[in-house]
Amino acid sequence: MANRGRRGFTYTHYRPTQANQAAIRNANELGFTVNLSAQTLAQADAHAALGIAPVVVVLPVGTTKPTRTPEGRMVVVCPASVGNTDCLNCGICQQRDRAAIVGFPAHGAGARRVQAIFFAGELS
Ligand code: SF4
Repeated sequence: MANRGRRGFTYTHYRPTQANQAAIRNANELGFTVNLSAQTLAQADAHAALGIAPVVVVLPVGTTKPTRTPEGRMVVVCPASVGNTDCLNCGICQQRDRAAIVGFPAHGAGARRVQAIFFAGELS
């Protein structure tokens, strides 16, 4: 309710159980954008199919170009990850009705571990 009319957004890695789906849908409808966070492209498809929230996904280290999920959904690379902008000037993650999935290349101290989960999921 506090975010109504503002541009707040966040991400959740909670499993989309029925109760969580209801909470996430409600937040999005009230104006606080909650992105469903996936760790593989297949999971991104599954999250998108729920139709309750926009979706983000981890991508392999160093990804700079858009890609597609197994079901053909467009995945754009977060422009901040390639140094082109910042969240204040981008704002894609706040757009709850967007069709595109936002991809975040694995980075930081846990990048290799995150990438391993991504590839394990793509191969299973
Ligand atoms: S720069 Fe854009 S795509 Fe990247 S996290 Fe911020 S709002 Fe999302």
